[in-house]
Amino acid sequence: MASKKIAVIGSGLIGRSFSMLFVSGGYQVSVYDVEPAQNAVAKDDIWSQLNKLEEQGLLRGSLSKEQQFANITYTEDLAECVNGAFFIQECIPERLELKKSVFAKIEKVMSPDAIMSSSTSALMPSLISGDLTHKNRFVVTHPTNPPFYAPATEVVPASWTDADVIEKTVALLKEIGQAPVLLKKEINGFVLNRIQYAILAETWNLIRDGIVSPEDCDVIMSQGLGMRYAFMGPWETAYLNADGLHSYSDRYADMIYGIQKDFLPPEKIGGETLDVIQRGMENVAGPVENLEQRRQWRDRRLVALAKLKAGM
Ligand code: NAD
Repeated sequence: MASKKIAVIGSGLIGRSFSMLFVSGGYQVSVYDVEPAQNAVAKDDIWSQLNKLEEQGLLRGSLSKEQQFANITYTEDLAECVNGAFFIQECIPERLELKKSVFAKIEKVMSPDAIMSSSTSALMPSLISGDLTHKNRFVVTHPTNPPFYAPATEVVPASWTDADVIEKTVALLKEIGQAPVLLKKEINGFVLNRIQYAILAETWNLIRDGIVSPEDCDVIMSQGLGMRYAFMGPWETAYLNADGLHSYSDRYADMIYGIQKDFLPPEKIGGETLDVIQRGMENVAGPVENLEQRRQWRDRRLVALAKLKAGM
């Protein structure tokens, strides 16, 4: 019988999320963390998150929360964690040398046809896996945070990643209810962060040049563009705004190009403009000391949106 075991390396924020997602799909998860105390914290937190998901009606899969909880085990031994697993999800801090050294240890004890997958937010797969003996079994699986409520997950292969690694990773993500996006080749920042940082760059320039306040930039996003983007991307938005894309191009291409040519180069975040944006965000979200309250509000709104999108 094919293995149902998945290894999760690192039991921080993302390791916990992946563990919960995998058990929701009926898999057995073994979690390893270099800090034994972290595993105990993770166990308590996962139980509390499973309870919350059940209360919200957002628990995934057909297993009860008790069954899902029981299907996650914790170990202080990397080899025991990886042994017999068909999929290994690394969720350790974003440091290239650390990730390289942990994968070098993993590949020595894993099944030869297992998949090594990294949660890295921005490290290129070729950089992490270039020195591995089994680099063909490596792929990046980059979740959006929080993964339960924002299911888009980037799958980024290196040029040497085996085709079956890509296919199986995409299939596994679909099976557990995520929305995988396969990049055809690696690029700095992947796709999600390139889009996110393009928005940061343009809004930064608009605020710096005194065109708009930071508070009003947020209105444009949360009460304007974001209303549509919660349901469709920029190109479907364009498609619907005219009679298809050729009609959109006939009507708007000259105007859009004229504006795009005006875009100024990005500037490194810092200095006076940052102070202006900090004050603006204090007005929007309250002082830094009270951010936990605002985060809880954000998470409640995300839950409501996830329910709306699920048609609940
Ligand atoms: P985190 O700091 O919450 O957790 C990291 C965990 O790894 C800790 O529990 C730590 O004890 C453990 N660890 C450290 N060294 C280890 C080792 N050698 N072996 C095993 N465990 C070890 O970090 P996180 O936010 O969960 O991020 C993990 C990865 O996911 C990073 O690469 C990050 O860039 C990526 N990521 C994070 C987010 C996010 O929003 N937090 C989103 C997408 C991807």
